[in-house]
Amino acid sequence: MKAFAYATAFSPDSARELVADHGAYLAGGNDLLGLLKDYLIPGPNILVNVKSLPGLSQIKRGEKSWTIGALVTVAELEHDPEIKEIFPGLHDAASEIASPQIRNVATVGGNLAQHSRCWYYRQRDVLCLKKGGELCYARHGENRYHSLFSGNDCISPVVSSLGTTFAALDATAIVLRDGKEIRLSMTDLYQKAFTEPTAHNSLAPGDLILRVEIPTTRNRSAYLQVSDKHTFDWALVSCAAAASVTGGKLSQPRVALGSISPVPHQVEAANSFLDGKTLDDDTVSQAADLILKDAKPLQHNAYKVPMAHALIRRTLLKLKGSPRGVEPATPRGEP
Ligand SMILES: Cc1cc2nc3c(=O)[nH]c(=O)nc-3n(C[C@H](O)[C@H](O)[C@H](O)COP(=O)(O)OP(=O)(O)OC[C@H]3O[C@@H](n4cnc5c(N)ncnc54)[C@H](O)[C@@H]3O)c2cc1C
Ligand code: SF4
Repeated sequence: MKAFAYATAFSPDSARELVADHGAYLAGGNDLLGLLKDYLIPGPNILVNVKSLPGLSQIKRGEKSWTIGALVTVAELEHDPEIKEIFPGLHDAASEIASPQIRNVATVGGNLAQHSRCWYYRQRDVLCLKKGGELCYARHGENRYHSLFSGNDCISPVVSSLGTTFAALDATAIVLRDGKEIRLSMTDLYQKAFTEPTAHNSLAPGDLILRVEIPTTRNRSAYLQVSDKHTFDWALVSCAAAASVTGGKLSQPRVALGSISPVPHQVEAANSFLDGKTLDDDTVSQAADLILKDAKPLQHNAYKVPMAHALIRRTLLKLKGSPRGVEPATPRGEP
């Protein structure tokens, strides 16, 4: 590991000042320390411990929206009984991440900002496009874990399960940039990775994720993922869905997929198609067709298309059957 300075920040503004141009924020350290030990990122010259920042470890429960601080751990999301009740999809996504030990220290901010898992990127001696090189080695190499969609030559997909679930829940990340708080949808948070090969997300150097705001308008949510291993693994494909379900009919439906695009993959035509529909096998199948219509499989990842199709169908059907969630207009539990 290269030498670096270390400081603990006690306010967001001082964290920003300390990190300056060449530092990095340290939260749970699960991703960052691996990047440093493997010499995968240049610098940083200072690690700024953000775990003592006040107010960012809380879950605030409002009527119209909930706010999840950037320092809330994945385990806290998993074990909070009200999250399980109100946002079951978020609970399910959190409980699938890594292992209990990692979830105990991994934070929401660090999960959203984690770097690519592409095995070429993670190999210290490979200088691929993402590290400023000239070639994407995965495109014509080992691409079984890679994207079905991308707007640039890098085909490394977003792997944040929380990012995918927050996208379906229409959540907003509040980020401290240049002394001001800006609001980014999950699409905004990852859009730069869709268009620019060197980006992992749209955060500019020094941007600090403060919290994530989730509207409570959707009373049902669900999440499913398929991984090579049952636990302790990232998803091959993940799917999150959320909607308001009243009298069996969907409104404001959103479906987002992880691990198939550099952004949580959403198709507005599918969301519009589902609006007002009652969930049945035919409807969810048509929605899956729309979501995957423009997929461009590579030599080794074509298996992701039927896998994603099945996950979309199953996740959407979970919205119908879920006994959890709050449904103001009709008694709880009615499909
Ligand atoms: C075996 C294994 C399996 C895993 N499976 C999954 C999975 O299925 N799904 C999934 O989503 N994740 C998975 N993970 C990843 C894990 O969830 C992340 O590594 C973890 O959430 C990172 O959080 P952290 O707090 O430790 O971040 P850190 O390592 O501290 O930081 C990660 C990055 O985020 C930056 N950062 C941290 N906090 C902020 C902030 N507030 N604002 C801006 N930037 C910030 C850091 O500078 C760094 O670049 C897995 C990890 C392992 C080891
Ligand atoms: S997919 Fe992206 S990270 Fe992986 S080798 Fe290609 S350019 Fe590098």
